[in-house]
Amino acid sequence: LSCITARTNVSSNLHPTIPTVLGSDSSNILSSLKALTLDGYFSFDDLHHAARDFGNQYNFLPSAILRPKSVSDIATTIKHVLQLGPSSKLTVAARGHGHSTQGQAQAHKGIVINMESLQRRKMKVHAGKLPFVDVSGGELWIDILHETLRHGLAPKSWTDYLHLTVGGTLSNAGISGQAFRHGPQISNVYQLEVVTGKGEVVSCSENQNEDLFYGVLGGLGQFGIITRATIALEPAPKMVKWIRVLYSDFSIFVKDQEYLISAENTFDYIEGFVIINRTGLLNNWRSSFNPQDPLQASRFNSDGRTLFCLEMTKNFNPDETDAMNQEVESLLSQLNYIPSTLFVSEVSYLEFLDRVHVSELKLQSKGLWEIPHPWLNLLIPRSKIQEFAAEVFGNILTDTSNGPVLVYPLNRSKWNNRTSTVIPNEDIFYLVAFLSSAAPSSTRMEGLEHILFQHKRILDFCEATQNGMKQYLPHYTIQEEWRAHFGPRWEVFAQRKSAYDPLAILAPGQKIFKKAT
Ligand code: FAD
Repeated sequence: LSCITARTNVSSNLHPTIPTVLGSDSSNILSSLKALTLDGYFSFDDLHHAARDFGNQYNFLPSAILRPKSVSDIATTIKHVLQLGPSSKLTVAARGHGHSTQGQAQAHKGIVINMESLQRRKMKVHAGKLPFVDVSGGELWIDILHETLRHGLAPKSWTDYLHLTVGGTLSNAGISGQAFRHGPQISNVYQLEVVTGKGEVVSCSENQNEDLFYGVLGGLGQFGIITRATIALEPAPKMVKWIRVLYSDFSIFVKDQEYLISAENTFDYIEGFVIINRTGLLNNWRSSFNPQDPLQASRFNSDGRTLFCLEMTKNFNPDETDAMNQEVESLLSQLNYIPSTLFVSEVSYLEFLDRVHVSELKLQSKGLWEIPHPWLNLLIPRSKIQEFAAEVFGNILTDTSNGPVLVYPLNRSKWNNRTSTVIPNEDIFYLVAFLSSAAPSSTRMEGLEHILFQHKRILDFCEATQNGMKQYLPHYTIQEEWRAHFGPRWEVFAQRKSAYDPLAILAPGQKIFKKAT
């Protein structure tokens, strides 16, 4: 019931821009911020962009934006907020690229730290046996890719979209089609520099301050602000072979996915998505897939059936083309897709990894990027995925999907259970991502209310069947729900909070802890 109440409140509260009311106490506080000696600076006007995010559903105005030029600017600010004591109610949110969907990077009447201002600190690529790159927490993954490619290297694990910051994705997990093999991005970090909620600048790794290290990874910004990260690299291929095949039977689709993520010699990237009625093979905003036979693909029509698309890539360099083609052929021969539905493309590694940006530019030009994005990301245990799919794709989402729906399996063995991210308790679990958009000209079936209602039905189904689902990029509004999300790991999470952010000033937009008053 609490879940229903929270969701109802959310939908009736759309776009509330909450004004900052400055009493005399507040103006004293703001004057005290102005008086701090910093390398960067505070802005007190033009705060609106810090009250927005990709989700476009929550708008909480902060009182100030810090544009730090150094790590000590962040430490000084946090120490100052601590000195003001609990009565100031001032909180602090790091804002990466603001691509959360439910106000997670916002701070109502608090301070938003614009992490991209730290970006100018130089990235350092270290080649060698175990190559790595040392970057700022406000760095965008796309810029890391450009820089590391100059050295013939690249990070191993990605998200589907690269215009996100290191601090933003490491605070969640960072999942894409490489995660079945390399684990999420949080499994590919050697070291972090963090400013804790006590204003201390701490270096941490699996051998040094490891409790903070693992706490911060997937920690939803609760324990500290990531100011630097050392990220594992590997030799970068020049090209990828990009393949899509279709299935009409969900159980055959997932059997093939599971075969591929467990095979020794397999693809380098494995994902999948659902094609519901109008969501065609090419009509999908999150991808620039351009098959070698575009005519065949454009003619492809699902005839109203729900289909499942398995998407894979194989990395290669031009001099390895023949060997790569043989490997791909051998892998494809093990699969049971609909024979006439093999769609293939070859693109540069950069083009593949940055694929969503192409669509972003197109949507931006049509004014369709900055619209509400009510997203729902779930992790479903393997043993329950069939039952889940039967209800969700067979019953709840039959007519339209309002955006891509991703479904792909992950190997639990590639996750470190000391990090803060909560995942289902089975060797294989599925990411199911409902990446919905509510376009302004929406019909009733495509409107925000309808999408939120469908998501509620999906969540209710998970609750009713007790299927062990865990939300990814979780969103809850009351602590009871957060406790249930963390389950037996809540105690550790709460202990870490009191150790590293005892006044609960960090990342208030997650709504896990309230600042002590
Ligand atoms: P923000 O939205 O700015 O911040 C997110 C949270 O992290 C906030 O609580 C904030 O306070 C905190 N935070 C930000 N920076 C720091 C820091 N330096 N230190 C500590 N805390 C910090 N995710 C995936 O895993 N896989 C995907 O394939 C994927 N695709 C996406 C595609 C699109 C188009 C979008 C919009 C999002 C996608 N995401 C994906 C989700 C994305 O990874 C998260 O929303 C991520 O948090 C966004 O990064 P950001 O830099 O915009 O963070």
